[in-house]
Amino acid sequence: MMYGPLTHRAATTPDATALVDADTDREWSVADLDSAVERVAGRLAALGVQPGDRLGVLLPTRPAAVRMIHAAMRLGAVLVPLGTRLSTADLVTRLDRAEVTTLVCGATTEADALAAADAATADVPVVSVDDADAATELAARSPDAVVPHDWSLDATLLVPFTSGTTGVPKGVRLTLGNVLASAAASAFRLGLDRAETWHVALPLHHVGGLTPVVRGPLYGMTVVCRSEFDAESVAADFERYDVTATSLVPTTLDRLLDATSGDLAPSLRTVLLGGAPATEELLERCQRRSVPVFPTYGMTEAASQIATATPAEAAAHPGTVGRPLFGTEVSVRADDGTERSPGEVGELVVSGPTVSPGYLDAEATAAAFGDDGLHTGDVGYRDGDGRLWVLGRTDDTILTGGENVAPATVVEALRDHPDVDDAAVVGVPDEEWGERVAALVVPADASLSAATLTEHCRDRLADYAVPKTIRFADAIPRTDSGTVDRDAVRERF
Ligand code: ATP
Ligand code: MG
Repeated sequence: MMYGPLTHRAATTPDATALVDADTDREWSVADLDSAVERVAGRLAALGVQPGDRLGVLLPTRPAAVRMIHAAMRLGAVLVPLGTRLSTADLVTRLDRAEVTTLVCGATTEADALAAADAATADVPVVSVDDADAATELAARSPDAVVPHDWSLDATLLVPFTSGTTGVPKGVRLTLGNVLASAAASAFRLGLDRAETWHVALPLHHVGGLTPVVRGPLYGMTVVCRSEFDAESVAADFERYDVTATSLVPTTLDRLLDATSGDLAPSLRTVLLGGAPATEELLERCQRRSVPVFPTYGMTEAASQIATATPAEAAAHPGTVGRPLFGTEVSVRADDGTERSPGEVGELVVSGPTVSPGYLDAEATAAAFGDDGLHTGDVGYRDGDGRLWVLGRTDDTILTGGENVAPATVVEALRDHPDVDDAAVVGVPDEEWGERVAALVVPADASLSAATLTEHCRDRLADYAVPKTIRFADAIPRTDSGTVDRDAVRERF
């Protein structure tokens, strides 16, 4: 019988700090966390939660969620992490799709959980972890003994949902094997500090927030959690807790750099930056401020990282996401499936031990997972040295007057202009062209005109790719994970 990661840690380094709640400045040793998790798992068992059951978790990035993630693993239940800002309808969809059998919430999410459970197709009992409320079932039950279970590499451990950028969010099955392979390959690329302390302020329903928590006991590191990303508090946490590593998306890193001056905490060694492209401007800022940034290409289906650049690579080749992680293969495919040469653009197909065996939905699985790997729907290329560059998504392709335009190439051309801070490019319906290329631009200099930009683009792009409409804005609308919110951008036109 193999022990779970936290049980293993509790036997080897019981006194090490496992968890810090930055919201309240409380901390738990490995032994403390282990016994708290044992109690929670025992109460869930007493409520009838069985190995293989789907445990929906609707909790902010706080210790209760961390305990619940480890308790699910201890029980052999499948964790279905849910976003705390979802509408009732969106929650119901996820409960139904993932066939959630028990829904866990906290004081702040209880009303949402009850409403969603009420509307779900199956009968989904709701359990609140808020111990202060003696009426809640979880607190009231005395724990059952937790029966150790087999840890099979093929067993599904987690079912996170994708962000829904390209349509309906998909529930992704991630196995213990996926999670372990990802933890190992990530450490091979980033390195691991003896006193690794990982700050997590991302929501736990994204792999970016979830993986550091799951990796905590595997690496034997301290996890510092904070429920809201507030730049000043996060910067203070870095100093106070000697944080060595954190995961951010471009928008949160930007906010962090805006809210601070000079270098970030001297203890900080790894800033994993993913979810969306890092602009050249942001990378330059990181260099000026000595931020050890590791630009990353990742996705839910690959248990997070696929390729990660080192800070040196990021400085020398701004825009690259580096090489694939150890064990992960990325090939660049033409529409007919043939492999592209270096420098040629195509769809990225990913394979390796971190890649999920499939979605919950069989049809979605058949559409994306082939014998050759996962067809990501992302477009990019490999340079002559094997570094990867991600340009955007196949779905974003604009069809204008019969010509295909990849928005990323237009964005790149716009960003080339010194007075452009940020840009997003979408296709908007057009009577004459079917779709026309439209650009939303964040100017660095208020005097920048649309005419100047059009001229600038004419020198760099094919006629049909030059934006026919250019609007200016203070910021590009983005999703939680930092990707461009295309619908919101389209609404500006
Ligand atoms: P859905 O699959 O439901 O449409 P999603 O793809 O946005 O949503 P996630 O798994 O959270 O859901 O995001 C992964 C995607 O984010 C990648 O497929 C890619 O499009 C984008 N992405 C991640 N990192 C980068 C990066 N460094 N540069 C460009 N795009 C990135
Ligand atoms: Mg996706």
